[in-house]
Amino acid sequence: MILEQALAGADITPEEAVILLQQTQPEMVEEIRSTADRLRQQQVGDRVTYVINRNINFTNICEQHCSFCAFRRDADQPGAFWLEFEEILAKTTEAVARGATEICMQGGLNLQAKINNSSLAYYQKVVETIKGNFPQIHLHAFSPQEIQFIAREDGLSYAQVIQSLQGSGVGSMPGTAAEILDDRLRQILCPEKLDSATWLEIVSTAHSLGMFTTSTMLSGHIEKPHHQAAHLQQLRSLQQRAIEANYPARITEFIILPFVGESAPKPLRSRVGRDQPILEDNLLLTAVARIFLGNWIPNHQPSWVKLGLAGATTALNWGCNDLGGTLMEEHITTMAGAKGGTCLEPEQLQAAISSLDRPYQQRDTLYKIVNFE
Ligand code: SF4
Repeated sequence: MILEQALAGADITPEEAVILLQQTQPEMVEEIRSTADRLRQQQVGDRVTYVINRNINFTNICEQHCSFCAFRRDADQPGAFWLEFEEILAKTTEAVARGATEICMQGGLNLQAKINNSSLAYYQKVVETIKGNFPQIHLHAFSPQEIQFIAREDGLSYAQVIQSLQGSGVGSMPGTAAEILDDRLRQILCPEKLDSATWLEIVSTAHSLGMFTTSTMLSGHIEKPHHQAAHLQQLRSLQQRAIEANYPARITEFIILPFVGESAPKPLRSRVGRDQPILEDNLLLTAVARIFLGNWIPNHQPSWVKLGLAGATTALNWGCNDLGGTLMEEHITTMAGAKGGTCLEPEQLQAAISSLDRPYQQRDTLYKIVNFE
């Protein structure tokens, strides 16, 4: 019944999503998968997209101590890094030479990263280093957590920070730091991080100012199906608000980021009790996310860094229509012990998509087709 209504175009409720997420019978799970696959086909067709991009994590020095994070370091700890502007430029130059249309940039919350005592001035210089040399590259940069950090350090509003970064050349905002939008769980996962309401406020402010964002969910840790459903509901409402208010920007895509615990701090790692994501759980959540969000957020992407390319390719049959980026390098998940690797060539993504007899297509960050012919 729930699946029939979804196929007829109805939005399912969070309670119905919980029912779907609790299914374990193989026949029922297969029905959920095939419903998600048919909805994906109806909503976005068979084509699978990918983007040629480079990840640049400019520092891992961070004031916070999220319980899932294997990336952060104190400034004087072994393994701490903070790239010079020249290094950021060199990485961008190499990415452009390899055909990248996007630089994806995020980093730790580094209190020393200031120019004339201004955090915003430092971030703007990072942006200008890239955009001043490569104005054509799309800069997908700085999570809502980084926006909140800059606003706090410089005594600015979120809108002022977003507008200033936009003025310097940031093109869109990664919807990371959402983790799970439940403040009780956030107290365990990331007690120092912005709360759910602030994450939603910053993303909505970005939409109102014409900055597109992505959206994410950190899954497979201590959350339960009702937390997952409530998270999806908040993302759907956020997108509906942007559409109803006729904001100039929206959420472009939804990405599930399964928890990788191998090198994560011990307390959470022991509590979760495993090091790598469970693919079956991730696939069911992927399908339910398509059914729940697809009418509003049509692009769904698995994380090949966390699932491996084979797992991510499988997710294309569970509601996903995009394989993400080539990345060229990745530190945050790889330092957590992920086995997916840090770089894929476009040909590897194309071959994975072709193995499902689906056509592939390069896209840009905002899902416009890239065609060099
Ligand atoms: S997840 Fe981000 S904010 Fe949290 S500790 Fe790691 S780098 Fe810092």
